[in-house]
Amino acid sequence: MALLITDECINCDVCEPECPNDAIYMGPEIYEIHPHLCTECVGHHEESQCVVVCPVECILVDPDHTETRAQLQAKFELITADSEDNSSSNADQ
Ligand code: SF4
Ligand code: SF4
Repeated sequence: MALLITDECINCDVCEPECPNDAIYMGPEIYEIHPHLCTECVGHHEESQCVVVCPVECILVDPDHTETRAQLQAKFELITADSEDNSSSNADQ
């Protein structure tokens, strides 16, 4: 499942740099999580890093984006492959 930030977010900026997938961004009012980039940290960490650091515990699983661990792993591999393609094409230049 991707995670979801509720409106209890206090915009403390702590979670955004902790996300290994750059899935967290500042929305119109509060921080938000891009569901296509959030792997629940599968592939990077044992725990969801944003949930670990959030001081007000306002990051929950998103009921609209339920995924199995295998799907999250596949998403991680897709994201990683994309970034490797970019870095190898940069190295070729
Ligand atoms: S669970 Fe991990 S991948 Fe998802 S938003 Fe939080 S830090 Fe990023
Ligand atoms: S750590 Fe929690 S309160 Fe702080 S910006 Fe992220 S979601 Fe909002």
